[in-house]
Amino acid sequence: MQAMQASFDTQCPFCSVQCKMRVIEEKQTDRRPTYRIEGLPNAASEGRLCVKGINAYQHALSRERLLKPLLKTDGAFREISWDEALNVMADRFSVIRTESGPDAVGLYGGGSLTNESAYVLGKFARVALGTRYIDYNGRFCMSAAASAGVKTFGLDRGLTNPLTEVTQTECIVLAGTNIAECQPTLMPYFTKAKENGARIIVIDPRTTKTAEMADIHLKVKPGTDLALANGLLKVVIEEKLTNPSFIATRTSGFENVLSYVSSLELAEVAALTGVDEDDIRRAARAFGKAATGMIFTARGVEQHRDGHMAVRAFLNLVLATGKIGKPGCGYGAVTGQGNGQGGREHGQKADQLPGYRLIENPADRAYVASVWGVDPAELPGKGVSAYEMMELVHKRDIRALLVMSSNPVVSNPNADFVAEGLRRLDFLVVADMFLSETALMADLVLPATAFLENEGTLTNLEGRVLLRGGDRPAPGEARHDWRMLAELAARLGKGAYFPYSTAEQIFEELRLASKGGAADYYGITYERIRNEGGVYWPCPDPEGPGTARMFERKFAHPDGKAAFAKAVHGAPGEAEDEAYPLVMTNGRMLSHYLTGVQTRRSPTLLAKELENVMEIHPRTAERYRIGDGELVRVASRRGSMIVRSRLTTDIREDTVFVPMHWGGVQNVNNATNPLLDPFCKMPDFKTSAVRIRTLNAA
Ligand code: SF4
Repeated sequence: MQAMQASFDTQCPFCSVQCKMRVIEEKQTDRRPTYRIEGLPNAASEGRLCVKGINAYQHALSRERLLKPLLKTDGAFREISWDEALNVMADRFSVIRTESGPDAVGLYGGGSLTNESAYVLGKFARVALGTRYIDYNGRFCMSAAASAGVKTFGLDRGLTNPLTEVTQTECIVLAGTNIAECQPTLMPYFTKAKENGARIIVIDPRTTKTAEMADIHLKVKPGTDLALANGLLKVVIEEKLTNPSFIATRTSGFENVLSYVSSLELAEVAALTGVDEDDIRRAARAFGKAATGMIFTARGVEQHRDGHMAVRAFLNLVLATGKIGKPGCGYGAVTGQGNGQGGREHGQKADQLPGYRLIENPADRAYVASVWGVDPAELPGKGVSAYEMMELVHKRDIRALLVMSSNPVVSNPNADFVAEGLRRLDFLVVADMFLSETALMADLVLPATAFLENEGTLTNLEGRVLLRGGDRPAPGEARHDWRMLAELAARLGKGAYFPYSTAEQIFEELRLASKGGAADYYGITYERIRNEGGVYWPCPDPEGPGTARMFERKFAHPDGKAAFAKAVHGAPGEAEDEAYPLVMTNGRMLSHYLTGVQTRRSPTLLAKELENVMEIHPRTAERYRIGDGELVRVASRRGSMIVRSRLTTDIREDTVFVPMHWGGVQNVNNATNPLLDPFCKMPDFKTSAVRIRTLNAA
């Protein structure tokens, strides 16, 4: 029997490394096709793939993919044509806007969208609907690090220097980031650094696979990272390990930090954080004495009510030691989502326009309006954050919602409250590849294309813009997100503003809209990315290079200096008490991505972790008479979930850990805390007081 072969070059969708790969499809007439995956040497991944990448094709080829639009009538979905779907949407949105004003329709995007789709979504909100209410799931991912970067450096870019410099670094702090399971193909950079003599400090309440390589593991109590960073800085200052000339010439505001941090008692920091005073000293000395050093943070530090200030406290440490703007020195916010970096740069955030321009800045509004060909006065103002949008949905201030590439009923904290709000909507539309938990609640579901079919750019965690191929034909009538929006805009009488027939056309407009902004893509073209394999932003000049290492000579504040912040620490967001005596934190597993909508539809990835679990220390489990592998109810003041116990000495005795990849009764967010960080509106996902009970006896 003759075999036919086709191959598709693309990028793994499952994290911010964006590893390149080739999917080789072999078809034989009498059998189902077989697939072979090859990593392609490029960019950050250097040809490596992890288990998620190797199996990423499985969900894209799943028989559960949505093939046609679905309209719910009398509680049941029926397939309809795109024509009917677009007409229904245009009618319902128009009626609601007429009755309640443009802000009664909201948009909820995602950090997995390509730059092109994210850009069109932001433009669609402001130009086609005229609503201020647009935000996205990246609010839960990057907002604390992003706002901290803006306040400290004047600019937010995930990594301030290329990953290749990690191997030249003498001391690396990995704070609240489990790279070995979340971005596995990056691990060789860190193991190579260690081989070169680097000391690695991991800050995490669990002994993760990443923590196993640490020279110093600070097993911090959840929610106290800010205090720990202050403790580290105190030791660095006391032991005269600061860089006075860097502080004097390149920063502002050190005096305030100095007086606050000097007033702290290290013993009190140790008591609050649960980290031994000597270990704090050892870690501070290792970082302070190293000639080069980098600090990375991720959600473990950021998803707290003080996440913004916690990141700023770690940035204080970077600035105080002068470890930025030179080889082997810098800061990195380790993004989780596939386009966590690019997805936040081009307008799907409530307060931003393309290129990180600010929607409330008159000059920024005027510039973007000129690119879009609209009157700046017609652009709506700033909206609210993702969870605050859910509160407006609950209050019925938002009556219709379009959700794109996101699963908010699972990913928001306080999930029961969010579900109740979504049930109150007059009209819910969800664009997705699958019937996610949110799509099941929708009135209308739109079938979206997958990564194999959807060409576009994504910006990796280094700020490097990559071009993803998308040559495989889409199944059924699945469509690109940007195309759905352009066609809906035409039904709303705004089609002239969305004249796109290819992703590249959108990118050409995005380049112009971002020109002169903080995230300047003007010098980047598809052709350039193809030729160079990826281009770092800011890249203002089509003939000039991108910017691999940031802040070499000056920072992005008007005075050219980086700003220290007096980062006052307090107690965690929710304290344990007699009724709820344990701290629950959450996070990821190696084989799953976000709410699991895609990875739970990959047979191989699902088989690796079939159901949700609760990691618990054996001594804690004994106190609650819980054995290994038992079903347990974990309850907070907001709600509860049922998960299977997994006993491990890797976790602190006062803490339990529940991953975030399941919905329904297994959803950790039934119990998480919607307390928001005042600076960036990040919810306090990572510290919930809980009680636990085995269901064995039930
Ligand atoms: Fe690469 Fe991340 Fe995909 Fe793994 S999940 S293959 S590290 S992009």
